[in-house]
Amino acid sequence: MKFKSILLLILLFGMFLLRGQQTQVDFLTADIAIIPDSTGSIEATASYELMANEKARSFYLDAQKMNFSSVLLNGKKAKYEYDGKRIEIQKKIKPGKKYRLSISYNVQPQQAVYFIGWNDGLADNNQIWTQGQGKYTSHWAPSLDDMNDKMIFDLSITFDKAYEVIANGKLEDVAAKGEVKEWKYSMDAPMSSYLLAFSIGDYDSKTMRSTSGTPIQNFYYRGDEDTYEPSYRYTKELFDFLEKEIGMPYPWKNYKQVPVRDFLYAGMENTGLTIFSDSFMVDSLAYADKNYVEVNAHEMAHQWFGNLVTEIDGNHHWLHEGFATYYALLAEGSVLGEENMYWKLYDKAKALQKASEAGQGQALTDPKASSLTFYDKGAWALVMLSDLVGEEAFKTGTLNFLKTHQFSNATIADYLKAISEASRKDISTFESVWLAGTSFPMEQARQYLSNNSTTIRDFLAMQHEIRTSNAPNERIMQKYWALNPSKQLRERGIRLYFKSLSNEFIGEILRTGDLKMRQAVVQSTTRIPAELQHDYERLLEDPSHLTVEQALYLLWVQVPGKRDEYLRMTEGIVGMPDRNVQLMWLLLASLTRDYTDEALRQAYRNELANYTSPEHSFEVRQRAFLLLAEIQRMNDQNFKDLINATVHPQYAFRSFARDLLDTYLKDPDKKLRIRRLADGLKPSELRYITKKLTIE
Ligand SMILES: [Zn+2]
Repeated sequence: MKFKSILLLILLFGMFLLRGQQTQVDFLTADIAIIPDSTGSIEATASYELMANEKARSFYLDAQKMNFSSVLLNGKKAKYEYDGKRIEIQKKIKPGKKYRLSISYNVQPQQAVYFIGWNDGLADNNQIWTQGQGKYTSHWAPSLDDMNDKMIFDLSITFDKAYEVIANGKLEDVAAKGEVKEWKYSMDAPMSSYLLAFSIGDYDSKTMRSTSGTPIQNFYYRGDEDTYEPSYRYTKELFDFLEKEIGMPYPWKNYKQVPVRDFLYAGMENTGLTIFSDSFMVDSLAYADKNYVEVNAHEMAHQWFGNLVTEIDGNHHWLHEGFATYYALLAEGSVLGEENMYWKLYDKAKALQKASEAGQGQALTDPKASSLTFYDKGAWALVMLSDLVGEEAFKTGTLNFLKTHQFSNATIADYLKAISEASRKDISTFESVWLAGTSFPMEQARQYLSNNSTTIRDFLAMQHEIRTSNAPNERIMQKYWALNPSKQLRERGIRLYFKSLSNEFIGEILRTGDLKMRQAVVQSTTRIPAELQHDYERLLEDPSHLTVEQALYLLWVQVPGKRDEYLRMTEGIVGMPDRNVQLMWLLLASLTRDYTDEALRQAYRNELANYTSPEHSFEVRQRAFLLLAEIQRMNDQNFKDLINATVHPQYAFRSFARDLLDTYLKDPDKKLRIRRLADGLKPSELRYITKKLTIE
């Protein structure tokens, strides 16, 4: 007992010491003026207003690899120490008094700011954009990596007047100064540093207003106006829905959305300024296969869950991603129909069940959990919590939680407390199963879906009958199709049981089914029966780029006699933002002897090969690499582009490039060739390959 209390004292004292260090001073405002240079460096001055609640001997800001030209405290030169990561100002700070710190610096950010397209000689793809979360804003602005000290940020940016400059907050002024303009943005509420952001590029925009009057400014690439409506479809509806469902007005002055090239993720919810991957900028045809609706709603929901109320640390990440995913599902359901929401929940549950059964289940309270856990299990946990305590108590509790912790930080316990108080229900079992538990409670999820969606109930019954009955699968499917007109039920049935479907039935689906059902057929097909050839040929004119690409490939392989006809029918189609139809077409045309002469075939091959170059988005490059690798036609330039791709900031693409390179390095001849090519490359591109080539 005594031992325990001494231990407790030591612990408490330790925490006190730690706290003393951590709380340091309170930063109130940050006024940051930057001049980015297209070569990748930034010249800047940042001033901060700060105050301490208790005496302090020093205080710090995180600042990565910066060169300081002046550091002033209240206008006087300040004593400081700098270790390349943190600048620590050595000065006794009196409690209750305000201080002004001013830092001038330049920096060549290693991460968190990305300069895209400036080296390729093309003017219209030049961009500079930021990613703070996980990459740390302190790489370009002295700030706090810790999420718990929120400041009111004002960002002003001076840049070439030909470009549009976008940042968090309200645009106060744009002043032309010769060849440059200074863009001044200001905010009036505090946020964590990781949410500070800007984007520079060749943009146009349109502004709409939510029903409550908030301006929503949506950007698109100048000249690509046809992508505006399909890409931003339902934006106002989603915004209005979230304000109503959450029950609290949007907490910031305005909302902006900016697509950028080669983005690291689908989207990032910087305060009032979502930056997202331009692969979501689709025309009305591509919309059917890929759209921004869910990501749009997800980043919007973060404006409350993450930005207004922020986790104290990664242990509470459910409060960000689980909530954003959950509210996005509801919002999307409000515009696309509830069935759509239940099917998405069903797909998420299946993925979680699979991981769980493979022994990879994770607790939502595990700070190292995967996206699948934080996003999808996180959303499921909220679905079940709302079901448990009732919608009204859920809404009241969630709203109280937001109000109590707005513009501040919170924990999972804070949230559960708010729900307990609003519902007066014991939620300890929920907590242990859904938050602390590692396995996914599939049975509960299945039960919930069966209770709420007749379509999924029928689908599960159909699956059960197919598994247990002796009747032919097709007859059972037809029975359920007659019972339930759901397109989702049909599409999934086609994919699951395609092998047992008769040609007659498949032909009927191709003639009378909707776009997704035809797509399910063509993506499940490996052989085209002669009697269905005509039906498959009609897919070359399908209003889905994914269907056209797959149909072209299948027909080209299966019906060699009509290759030239198929190519003529699809010439000139670009397809999805990753040029899926065009690249497939170039590959097949370059391989088709009857279609054209050798010179033109070579020209097609060259055109395809050029798409691995860094002047294209990584999505296009990856497709081109895959196709060229498939036919073993990688030329020297493709290998150079592949080496360049091994240091690309986008993780999935970089990994893809490294894996592909690995397979080539196993071949001694290719290895020699790659070693020779590496000689002419830039040191930054060689960071990875040099290690690879010298290891063995
Ligand atoms: Zn998110």
